[in-house]
Amino acid sequence: MRYISTRGGMPPKSFSEILLSGLSPDGGLAMPSAYPKVTATQLNAWRELSYPSLAYEILLRFVDDIPADDLRNLIYQTYTAEAFGSADITPLKTLEPGFHILGLSNGPTLAFKDIAMQLLGNLFQYQLTKTGVELNILGATSGDTGSSAEYAMRGKHGIRVFMLSPHGKMSRFQTAQMFSLQDKNIFNIAIRGVFDDCQDIVKAVSNDHAFKQAHHIGTVNSINWARIVAQVVYYFKGYFAATKNNDEQVSFAVPSGNFGNICAGHVARMMGLPIKHLILATNENDVLDEFFRTGVYRPRTTTETRHTSSPSMDISKASNFERFIFDLTGRNAEQVTELWSAVDKGNAFDLSTTPLFSAIKDYGFVSGTSNHAARIATIRDIYRRYRLLIDTHTADGLNVGQAHREADVPLICLETALPAKFSESIVEAIGREPERPSDLENLESLPQRFVIKDANVQVIKAYINEQCMISV
Ligand SMILES: *Cc1c(COP(=O)(O)O)cnc(C)c1O
Repeated sequence: MRYISTRGGMPPKSFSEILLSGLSPDGGLAMPSAYPKVTATQLNAWRELSYPSLAYEILLRFVDDIPADDLRNLIYQTYTAEAFGSADITPLKTLEPGFHILGLSNGPTLAFKDIAMQLLGNLFQYQLTKTGVELNILGATSGDTGSSAEYAMRGKHGIRVFMLSPHGKMSRFQTAQMFSLQDKNIFNIAIRGVFDDCQDIVKAVSNDHAFKQAHHIGTVNSINWARIVAQVVYYFKGYFAATKNNDEQVSFAVPSGNFGNICAGHVARMMGLPIKHLILATNENDVLDEFFRTGVYRPRTTTETRHTSSPSMDISKASNFERFIFDLTGRNAEQVTELWSAVDKGNAFDLSTTPLFSAIKDYGFVSGTSNHAARIATIRDIYRRYRLLIDTHTADGLNVGQAHREADVPLICLETALPAKFSESIVEAIGREPERPSDLENLESLPQRFVIKDANVQVIKAYINEQCMISV
């Protein structure tokens, strides 16, 4: 398997060569040169596999430059009952016949991002040990991504994580989750400013190529291909859990922000998994729903981006969306380059008058938008009807998913976080606090480890430089 860029300017590379990188040098995203197709016989055999065995079979088709035994070990180290709460890793809850929730948030930070990030941590460490180089991960977070990255990289040799967050602007739970980590390779930097200030600093540091190279700066953002491929696994797992044989089709409802999660669903479908619809749900930040309904992709400015009660979906543009457009155009890198030359200038593009717009339905996508009132009502309704408490993001997915539900097609809604993370909205919906996993009972009273810094690039560079003198 070789990887190419959505913009056509990258010589084909191996999995390990794209593992640590974010963007391709030409500004595009890495894509497999072709999707491995799963045969009916393979699909039958996979039905009975445990989560790690299934993950191994799938990853093996995308990774051919890590010895198979090593890959298997890394996967088995990652997907344990200890880390994910049960041997199922992603348990399926059936609310009623044909209506299911796939639990993706039983990892250490209670959000689905752990599924990919935990594997990424082990892959990174493996790769760095082999090459003997260090990696300094620099990121900005307003919640889930940062903590998921820190829990995946904590205690890893040769890897430091520098995570910028807006000082005093995250929830108490999220702050405590990150800042209570005492590992000496984890650096929480609370910035006097807002999330955009944090992101600007990360961009400025990444654009300083000399600094970036000298300090081995890397990222773990959602465009990382390894994260996508790790997520492909649970679409297969969910399909097998909700069906009896491979003649059945299912639909998935996916709460979406950066298009990472649903991109994995698209890959699973391209591999041949019998998915009827990929139901994309957005919150009030409806860039993607607008595209799938109208053919117009219009990234928003940061001032147009709304802060909502499903904050992990508050995006202004969807960083993985380019991957889908690459496939939609029949892998026409020239056309993608042209479309994104508009996007990169802050402009929109419009496919409504082209044959591409009607081709979208061949890829199974449908979409819808949720909002605060709808998500609160959905949380309340699901709790009343099934005694199941869901979080705000999952509620957006369920709300839109139910609107697209078909009588004869099982619907699998992806649960992307646990309600414990968003207690304010839960109280609003059902009048009481959500329960917490018992080991997180006293999270907010644990000692916290962080520094507070000004929103100043030089200050942050100096801090990184200082910490890099100390080995981890
Ligand atoms: C990141 C996240 C999402 C959005 O996922 P994308 O891959 O960005 O589309 C949805 N829900 C939760 C809880 C998240 O953390």
